[in-house]
Amino acid sequence: MSTLALLGGAPIRKNPFPEYVTIGEEERQAALDVLNGTVLSSFLATWSDKFYGGPRVQTLERAWEAHFGVKHAISVNSATSGLYAAVGAAGISPGDEVIVSPYTMSASATAAVVYGGVPVFADIDPETYCISPETIRQRLSPRTRAIIVVDIFGHPADMGKIMRLAEERGIVVIEDSAQAPGATLDGSPAGTLGHMGVFSLNYHKTIHCGEGGVVVTNDDRLAERLQLIRNHAEVVVKNKGVEDITNMVGFNYRMTEIEAAIAAEQLKKLDGLVARRREVADQLKAALFGLPAILLPQVKPGVEHGWYLFVMRYDATAAGGLSRETFVEAVKAEGVPLVAGYVEPIYLEPMYQRRTAFGRQGFPFSLADASVSYDKGLCPVTERMHYEDVIFTNICHSQTTGEDVADFAAAIRKVLENAADLKERDAARSQA
Ligand SMILES: *Cc1c(COP(=O)(O)O)cnc(C)c1O
Repeated sequence: MSTLALLGGAPIRKNPFPEYVTIGEEERQAALDVLNGTVLSSFLATWSDKFYGGPRVQTLERAWEAHFGVKHAISVNSATSGLYAAVGAAGISPGDEVIVSPYTMSASATAAVVYGGVPVFADIDPETYCISPETIRQRLSPRTRAIIVVDIFGHPADMGKIMRLAEERGIVVIEDSAQAPGATLDGSPAGTLGHMGVFSLNYHKTIHCGEGGVVVTNDDRLAERLQLIRNHAEVVVKNKGVEDITNMVGFNYRMTEIEAAIAAEQLKKLDGLVARRREVADQLKAALFGLPAILLPQVKPGVEHGWYLFVMRYDATAAGGLSRETFVEAVKAEGVPLVAGYVEPIYLEPMYQRRTAFGRQGFPFSLADASVSYDKGLCPVTERMHYEDVIFTNICHSQTTGEDVADFAAAIRKVLENAADLKERDAARSQA
């Protein structure tokens, strides 16, 4: 038995894990080409050939359409902007209910609030961490107008069934695929499975251009509305001859030429980067196999996972009662990256707890039906996952070597084998 690093022993790992770097010579050259040409953006908020932006923006969009097999790709300056534009394009009005996951980056739900919509949180599936047809069904009401489904951690949601459910009722589905570029469900790319899909190109995602995003749709009318919201809709609708001006309030969500040039190079690398993530995920699963305290990530039939994060569930009972927090602290002390929980269930944030977003009258929550709750206990699976079960690492990427995987697994195994030492420490502490 070796002494745990947390108790003064030598850590398994001394040097840091490799950073995820996807920017190379191709991106540098593409950015320089833009600078040499001096046109850094050519959007104009008028109904003219400049309405759709500059050559790099349009090249990226055509490449994105070809890659994902969709009719329209609309670049934006972030996935947050993309989600906001998608909710606007969907025609959400104040008081409309929008069903969304509570276990996601906050913007997935805030997008509804921005249009006066009322987020209604549906619980997650404990294997995929996505909202499911069953949990959505429990939250449907006559006021439900949209569902924002998140392909969280890179695993596509059960979109076939969700789309059937939504289409029966005329509900718009927005797929937040910020974490799932390159994932597929029954051979179709994640992000293309809803009425609109949103990708992120921010620095933390699988591919990036610093900040950026892309919205995709096969619907011509939604595409036009997205393009208008991106670029000052209100001053364009008259000359463009747009009849339905609902939510045609414009923003500046436009992407620059440098970002578009970089993003186009990143898109070429996407498949290779995701393939590498799959290899690392397989290595991690093999290295961690057979540990009763660690439930490995589940992948549903027909799914190719995007492996944005490698998410496991910790079973404290199987670890002899060692708490998740102490387990994670001890693994981190061994020099390997591991995190307990993901994000606090969104409805527990102050905006929902105090039902205050815009102004002093509690808009839009003042419009909510009495049945809409943000109380603790609302989504018990999400709460259990976040506060008790979920642990994850961000090492599931192209830079990670076999040695890194071996160190990761060795640290996990070492802590579990020496769990009794930590329990003694925790017991002594709680007595003190
Ligand atoms: C990162 C992320 C976003 C927001 O992306 P930005 O491009 O940073 O605005 C939205 N949803 C999910 C699930 C994300 O992970």
